[in-house]
Amino acid sequence: MELNSKIPPGPVAEKWEKHKFNVKLVNPANKRKYEVIVVGAGLAGASAAATLSELGYRVKCFVYHDSPRRAHSIAAQGGINAAKNYQNDGDSVYRLFYDTIKGGDFRAREANVHRLAENSLSIIDQAVAQGVPFAREYGGLLANRSFGGAQVSRTFYARGQTGQQLLLGAYQQLEKEIAKGGVEMFTYYEMLDLVVVDGQARGIIARNLRTGAIETYAAHAVLLATGGYGNVFYLSTNAKNSNATAIWRAYKRGAAFANPCYTQIHPTCIPVSGEHQSKLTLMSESLRNDGRVWVPKKVGDKRPPSQIPEDERDYYLERRYPSFGNLAPRDISSRSAKYVCDEGRGVGETGLGVYLDFSDAIKRLGKKTIAERYGNLFEMYQRITDEDPYQVPMRIYPAVHYTMGGLWVDYNLMSTVPGCFVLGEANFSDHGANRLGASALMQGLSDGYFVIPYTIGDYLAGLKPQPVDASAPEFRAAEQETRARLEKLLAIKGKRTPTSFHRQLGQIMWNKCGMARNAAGLTEAIGEIAALREEFWQNVNVVGEVGSLSQQLEIAARVADFIELGELMCRDALHREESCGGHFREEYQTEDGEALRNDERFAYVGAWEYTGDTAEPRLHKEPLVYEEVKLATRSYK
Ligand SMILES: Cc1cc2nc3c(=O)[nH]c(=O)nc-3n(C[C@H](O)[C@H](O)[C@H](O)COP(=O)(O)OP(=O)(O)OC[C@H]3O[C@@H](n4cnc5c(N)ncnc54)[C@H](O)[C@@H]3O)c2cc1C
Repeated sequence: MELNSKIPPGPVAEKWEKHKFNVKLVNPANKRKYEVIVVGAGLAGASAAATLSELGYRVKCFVYHDSPRRAHSIAAQGGINAAKNYQNDGDSVYRLFYDTIKGGDFRAREANVHRLAENSLSIIDQAVAQGVPFAREYGGLLANRSFGGAQVSRTFYARGQTGQQLLLGAYQQLEKEIAKGGVEMFTYYEMLDLVVVDGQARGIIARNLRTGAIETYAAHAVLLATGGYGNVFYLSTNAKNSNATAIWRAYKRGAAFANPCYTQIHPTCIPVSGEHQSKLTLMSESLRNDGRVWVPKKVGDKRPPSQIPEDERDYYLERRYPSFGNLAPRDISSRSAKYVCDEGRGVGETGLGVYLDFSDAIKRLGKKTIAERYGNLFEMYQRITDEDPYQVPMRIYPAVHYTMGGLWVDYNLMSTVPGCFVLGEANFSDHGANRLGASALMQGLSDGYFVIPYTIGDYLAGLKPQPVDASAPEFRAAEQETRARLEKLLAIKGKRTPTSFHRQLGQIMWNKCGMARNAAGLTEAIGEIAALREEFWQNVNVVGEVGSLSQQLEIAARVADFIELGELMCRDALHREESCGGHFREEYQTEDGEALRNDERFAYVGAWEYTGDTAEPRLHKEPLVYEEVKLATRSYK
């Protein structure tokens, strides 16, 4: 396997512009002869499917949801970054580029990140043209707020529903193309395998979730925009159904998996309340614009917050990171919360919580302003906890939120399987070891609206525009393998539910490959996951049939993939003997507990190649070359 990033030559600010000129074009009359499969219709998939259809390609779009509108992107609350500099506070494309490289702890590709910052400008124009109701200032200009890791206000938002509004924009565009006949939509379909013919992605195996029928679909190219894999931890802020199956199956067909251990643990989530829980709830980072994070100074102080005087409170983010304060990036804020809770200063019944307090902001700005900014988030918090955040501070704790790792892609967003492109959270590309807030939506839409429309043409132009069909033997073989795998799951008839395995996997991952990791724990985790996998294939109980609706079967197949992916994540975390961004190895930290990178040994993307179910995966390295930005110790003090 060769990792050729295909980064264009030249100065970073000119690479994309020149690349757009240099890529091959497909003649407009030929576009309709090419068929493209898009799996996923979140922000990345919907924007790509709609745009490719507008260009004239014939698109088939698959989602396991009942509607494209249900994609997990709808959950995004806080906002989307763009370097518009409407605030005139010093922002620029270069600053967004720099902040993102630094935010990712110098583990992302310069060229990709610069392109992302450039495209951020067009995304806002595109969304506004679609009617996305971004918040506005009194005078009509689009409003901005701040997110972590930045000292400028560049986050565009639609109250606490930015993802939903952006998705509705992309969805309308998709619906228009469906109505026109350019996109054929397949809802309630789950992709269960990638079909590779003569070394090129040529289609997918999908299961119709209503009928259970296993079907084959052929195309000239396959785009995976299937989201992140945070649910490997069982408890996360991701939508309950988000899973890794599409990218995991592609990995097994030859797509390298990059930086699987880079996981983002978001600092502001509602704390876990008990064993019954199957999901965690995010309280948007935007709240840290006005909320102040604190814990009692005294260990074991169980007084209610209102009875803890000001001088007995530790506003630890403001204390440790005076220049960024409560808007320190996520990895740093999460770890800081863990430290104070580990010291015994956590709040709430479990002691695994810190306060996010709005009392100062309410005094300064008034309740009305705070309600205007965050009303729906406050309401959500109150419904879940039965506590009124206008009266008492919110209690928050870090939770798994986003995965920076994903399938390796080159500058054109193509994986190591030619013809298989990967977009949005499913790829590894732009965030390095830590994603800054409000930049996932930016990346998904950049990939879908503004990158893939150019780069896919470059690939397709090299193929003959001949009709595709699913007659190649590889389709039959993949279909049979999929069927056999599902039948095997049904035949086990063991004693444990798929969910119980998933929960156990989540506990291993959280305890040993979570916010802090070490070699001993990761080695144990690899052994425990291998044992769990063995037990799963002997003792899982799945009811239903392959050829009919069976949600148990859907869950079991996803859990089987999560188990394997969990092991790869631990391997990746074990090999990376440094701390960077969300990957914190306890052995590698500075005296004051900050991440200690090792640029000499680890300034590379670690991409894993599948070599067989019982064989160890092979590691490939893509060196990260910094020509524009100087590698530096990341500091937010
Ligand atoms: C609670 C929450 C709040 C967030 N807030 C923000 C924010 O304010 N700003 C920000 O920038 N980011 C935010 N994020 C991150 C951001 O929402 C996601 O990274 C982004 O929406 C992912 O978009 P996507 O298109 O890549 O994938 P998704 O939106 O997850 O879409 C995946 C699609 O793939 C389909 N799919 C998956 N697997 C298969 C399969 N095997 N077969 C068929 N279909 C499949 C699904 O049906 C779905 O349509 C937030 C995340 C969470 C969890």
